[in-house]
Amino acid sequence: MVNCEVCGKATEEIYRAEIEGTQMDACAKCARFGKVLYTPAKISLSSKESLKGKKAEKEEPEQKIVDNYAKIVRKIREKLGLTQEEFAKKINEKESLMKGIESGKTIPSFDLAGKLEKMFNVVLIETVEEEKADTGSSGSKDFTLGDMITIKSRKK
Ligand SMILES: [Zn+2]
Repeated sequence: MVNCEVCGKATEEIYRAEIEGTQMDACAKCARFGKVLYTPAKISLSSKESLKGKKAEKEEPEQKIVDNYAKIVRKIREKLGLTQEEFAKKINEKESLMKGIESGKTIPSFDLAGKLEKMFNVVLIETVEEEKADTGSSGSKDFTLGDMITIKSRKK
């Protein structure tokens, strides 16, 4: 709540207005008598809330393994005409891992997915376009980002 400098009434919508040559914080009614410099919307945009919003937009997009990774990996192998064992050897991975992936039980790591993408020109990693409904949980966002970094560095 702010008080209008002209009439002294408390108001939530304060306008920056030039009234008779003087800049004043005025309520909507009083602002009409002068030249409005800033509307309430513009004043609220300069608050912390808008900074939070901008930060959220700049956040790196999250990536995930595509849902049909099992199908894609199987297709690659079938195209090559290899058994699961041969295919696993070819790409330097464990046969058990590749079996798990083809059956959809094991989600491939980003490292493995990236390797297969490069080797066989397929898409296994997709970018998640996440709609951020909650702007007040910057703490949990930091955790997610940190968590991703940990996962990445662990695999190197
Ligand atoms: Zn007023």
